[in-house]
Amino acid sequence: MENSSKIPVGILGATGSVGQKFISLLANHPWFEIAEVAASERSAGKTYKQAVNWVLSSPLPEFVGELTVQECEPNLKSKIIFSGLDSGVAGLIEEAFAKKGYFVVSNSKNHRMDKDVPLLVPEINADHLELIKIQNYNGGCIVTNPNCSTIGMVLALKPLHDNFGLEAVNVVTMQALSGAGYPGVASLDIIDNVIPFISGEEPKLESEPLKILGILDKDHIQNVDIKISAQCNRVAVVDGHLECVQVKLKKKATKEEIISIWRKFSAEPQKYNLPTAPLNPIYYFDEEKYPQPRIHRDLDKGMAASVGRLREDNLFDFKFVVLSHNTNRGAAGGAILCAELMKAKGYI
Ligand code: NAP
Repeated sequence: MENSSKIPVGILGATGSVGQKFISLLANHPWFEIAEVAASERSAGKTYKQAVNWVLSSPLPEFVGELTVQECEPNLKSKIIFSGLDSGVAGLIEEAFAKKGYFVVSNSKNHRMDKDVPLLVPEINADHLELIKIQNYNGGCIVTNPNCSTIGMVLALKPLHDNFGLEAVNVVTMQALSGAGYPGVASLDIIDNVIPFISGEEPKLESEPLKILGILDKDHIQNVDIKISAQCNRVAVVDGHLECVQVKLKKKATKEEIISIWRKFSAEPQKYNLPTAPLNPIYYFDEEKYPQPRIHRDLDKGMAASVGRLREDNLFDFKFVVLSHNTNRGAAGGAILCAELMKAKGYI
């Protein structure tokens, strides 16, 4: 059902894992309305329901199933474009859209580290949105969402960094299969197995937090100086990345202080009461065996970071476990939250 008071949006890469999540999250969105879907030339020209291999448990919204899949050409009528494009093609396509005046919010890695592109986690660096004012895209812009394992970790790190200063971080991830797209990793590779390598993942986890936690300095972000070491593993979980994190702090902290600042953490998305914002960005669990992917990944709309097992560490100061939903908070949900923040703050 068309609702003219909503803002029409287009989805690039609409048939993929992240694209499907965009559709399920935007189908009943109070501000945005799915008007257009686009994907590769393999899908273009078909109806969405013919083109897609729908793998989500929520049903494919009927009105989206009837939309004709378009090519990813910058001639869509929606001004706001969400991108879940394969990174092999995302860079140039997103740029072409921005140059034609579209607001592109992307999950792909291609533009994340561009000097004038915000790498946005709305609870952490909403002020970095100012960068879009200096982008040279004829009134359009590109805003990016971090890597799916970066997001959960930085949400937990932000209050530590603000209150105690971070000196060093070590992280070992156990990442879900949906992070590899669909069909992703072959079943014979992952059943009864763990794969101790995810191409390109460790450098992202070691570099993206430095920009996200960085300081806006006129036309660029001054990265923070934190040493980060990451090891990434693929495990046989469908959704939800679990990460074991060790931190070295600049100032002394107690376990109770850290848990208290995590539990109190709240930021602009909560202040603006954005539709996709979690009530609490961070949930701390006292139970020793939590958080767990199957149990906690959908907590608070799948948008929260679940944290647990905070304890002192023999090598660093503290260690803990963090879990976040990789296609929700870590991709489509995170990108929608970015667009909501842009609207609430008057950027779009
Ligand atoms: P995916 O399932 O492989 O989907 C890729 C999408 O890109 C499909 O819609 C595909 O369309 C489209 N595409 C491929 N080649 C194209 C071309 N030449 N022109 C236009 N469209 C093309 O991948 P995904 O997991 O959704 O990931 C999408 C992006 O988000 C990637 O950059 C990924 O790194 C990033 N990301 C993923 C996650 C996650 O948890 N999965 C998290 C964060 C970020 P067809 O169906 O027509 O081929």
